[in-house]
Amino acid sequence: MSEIGRSSQGGATQGGSSQQGASQMDPGKKYGTCVSNNTNKWKCIFCMKETNGGISRLKHHLVGGNTSITVCPNCPEHVRAELQNDAAYKMLDRQVTSQLYTYLMLFIYGYNYYMGF
Ligand SMILES: [Zn+2]
Repeated sequence: MSEIGRSSQGGATQGGSSQQGASQMDPGKKYGTCVSNNTNKWKCIFCMKETNGGISRLKHHLVGGNTSITVCPNCPEHVRAELQNDAAYKMLDRQVTSQLYTYLMLFIYGYNYYMGF
């Protein structure tokens, strides 16, 4: 029993919980203000445009690349680069984490199984 408790510490990157942490750290929130406490409505701090559809839509407005959203005319290049890098990093991070998690589970279960004998 105690070994299972210990191993759950190592498996802290369990699916759902890591996603919540990531959304709290969203760098897009630095460049927008939430309009009237509606989390779906964000105002761009560079051009004061209001976007509906959450923080991801504000980021599309800043970064561009989505034809249905107007690209911000005032967004500095370094902000654009930061948000692009973050999106790429998150995608990479998610892939690496899920692979690592599989390895971790194999390792932990294998180890506990071995210790059980
Ligand atoms: Zn803007």
